[in-house]
Amino acid sequence: MQEALEGPLLALENDSLRRALRAPLLRAYSAAEGDPEALINFGSNDYLGLAEEPFIAQAAIEAVGRYGTGAGASRLICGNHAPHAALEEALAAWKGTEAALAFSSGYATALGTIPSLIGPQDVVILDKLCHACIIDGARLSGAVLRIFPHNNLDRLETHLQWARKRHPKARILVATESIFSMDGDLAPLAAIVALKERYGAWLMVDEAHAAGVLGATGGGLAQALGLGGRIEIQMGTLSKALGCSGGYIVGSRTLVDWLINKARSLIFSTAPAPASAATATASVRWMSTEAAHERRALLWTNVALFQKTWPELAAAQSPIAPVLVGGNEETLRLSKRLLAAGFFVPAIRYPTVPRGRERLRVTISARHSADSIQRLTVALRAGLGTLDGPQ
Ligand SMILES: *Cc1c(COP(=O)(O)O)cnc(C)c1O
Repeated sequence: MQEALEGPLLALENDSLRRALRAPLLRAYSAAEGDPEALINFGSNDYLGLAEEPFIAQAAIEAVGRYGTGAGASRLICGNHAPHAALEEALAAWKGTEAALAFSSGYATALGTIPSLIGPQDVVILDKLCHACIIDGARLSGAVLRIFPHNNLDRLETHLQWARKRHPKARILVATESIFSMDGDLAPLAAIVALKERYGAWLMVDEAHAAGVLGATGGGLAQALGLGGRIEIQMGTLSKALGCSGGYIVGSRTLVDWLINKARSLIFSTAPAPASAATATASVRWMSTEAAHERRALLWTNVALFQKTWPELAAAQSPIAPVLVGGNEETLRLSKRLLAAGFFVPAIRYPTVPRGRERLRVTISARHSADSIQRLTVALRAGLGTLDGPQ
């Protein structure tokens, strides 16, 4: 086995594509900013800084005291504890849906949900930039797959026409993200909803990066546009702006009942730790408070500040700013240069993004100081400048 694996690993290394787990980074934005030795983190998805929020940590401590550390079994055997039900109630109330179902991760959510609803006789139509969990879930379903170029409504409609004609009895599922994870732009959700309705398809929207960030109470793009009631399957993760871990589906009671009976990643996996559900509940409930409103305002102020010094990145639509570099080696070099200057900004390479579209992915948090954002943009400009010149 050594030989079979070492050669390909070396090839990855030569292409600047070999990954390694890095030493733990300081993720505390505030602490990092007070310590000249520490890196300032511009790579986390913890947009609101909730992963280090004391009241959420307190919810975990209390739940561990009460329920212990493990759920003990899957939700359907005896791993279903009060915090799971509380989380699902809070999620449904927050998103304005009949019901919710919590999974152990966003990845497990997509992998369990899509094959529960769609089979080999059906059709799944995906945006080209959809996250790996949606692609993997679609593949696992065995359905015919059709991909449309990113946010291209004409091509989506062509696929819908084709699917309706060729597979008149089939279920057709359209899937998209709302804020795209690596590009930070938005799906044209209202137009997608109109199209899927015209062709009698179902729509699944992954709000992983929009939940907590967009909408009056952070409910996501569906909330911001008032479209929640017209989307069959809304999914998201508790691991990004919510600062916890786990994934979820929100939708009709019938959908959730179906998934409880069919979703293999729910049925054959131990329930999330009760303390994990309790932290997520605290985070979800917080989203509708005045404090959350203010924190989101702070996030958007920071996003605007970054954009002001980085006008290439059009108007701010999200806290994700892709700085396109192109080339694995160049992208890594820029990321390392920023590390040396005290900033962590991850280099994103194939297969996370298409070849030639390698980039630094800057994520802005409500916790960043104006000063650190300004210093980052200066370091970023200087770094990009050196890429053009002689090495
Ligand atoms: C991170 C992410 C997921 C997976 O969520 P986890 O809870 O981290 O497994 C799903 N979809 C998108 C778009 C993501 O960015």
